[in-house]
Amino acid sequence: RASRSFHPQDTVVDIGDIKIGGKKIAVIAGPCSVESQEQIDGIAKAVKLSGASMLRGGAFKPRTSPYSFQGLRDSGLEMLHHASQKARIPVVTEIMSADKLEAFLDDDIDAIQIGSRNMQNFELLKAVGKVNKPVLLKRGLCATIEEWLMSAEYIMAGGNRNVILCERGIRTFEEYTRNTLDLSAIPAIKRQSHLPILVDPSHATGKRWMVEPMAKAAIAAGADGIMVEVHNDPDHALCDGAQSITPQMFDHLMNSLRQIAPVVGRE
Ligand code: PEP
Ligand code: MN
Repeated sequence: RASRSFHPQDTVVDIGDIKIGGKKIAVIAGPCSVESQEQIDGIAKAVKLSGASMLRGGAFKPRTSPYSFQGLRDSGLEMLHHASQKARIPVVTEIMSADKLEAFLDDDIDAIQIGSRNMQNFELLKAVGKVNKPVLLKRGLCATIEEWLMSAEYIMAGGNRNVILCERGIRTFEEYTRNTLDLSAIPAIKRQSHLPILVDPSHATGKRWMVEPMAKAAIAAGADGIMVEVHNDPDHALCDGAQSITPQMFDHLMNSLRQIAPVVGRE
């Protein structure tokens, strides 16, 4: 079902008033993690003002170390819902286990993210396949394009056709960047699938100063949009500060992107 031979036209996923995969590019922005109501409200307002299409923020965090900040969990979901309503911007957040699906639906989260580490959590894929919410499926750390599309297939096999892919870099021998952004995945996915594809230059590079050039490269290569981490005080962020840009840098990025392609949202 994810294959272009099954469905020749490009799929456009509707999230509220936002269309992902249409003629305009979508920009999803927000912190790695929700840290407080004040923090997420402030970032939501700032990114919306700069023209973001959608807000992001993690409540359930898949951290490498069990001693790192694990996210505000259920209260983080409530904060995201509140910030999204107040700033009038739809929101996406990561789910880590199927038993939390009800909370995502109750708190009216607009789209559900499946993170890289869960790309092959097949029971989770089946669970989100049974609901009607759009799913943002990130590429696994070491997943081939074929494996990634098969994970999309798991979701779609359950009846949910609202799948958006997100390339976030893959693990290679290179250590200068956090991951290696596989730009070639964009035309590869476009050829094999009708699903929209976004690029996350934040997790792909791990470096804030690389976000803008890689975001532009992604759009030039045909991505349907980008997802970027934005933090009010990156040097003190509880998660992924080094790759988070400030609201001012985000405003600059939006101005550069608008020169390449129209962005979904605002107007
Ligand atoms: C995230 O988007 O915050 C995240 C954890 O990303 P990934 O799953 O791509 O590592
Ligand atoms: Mn992150």
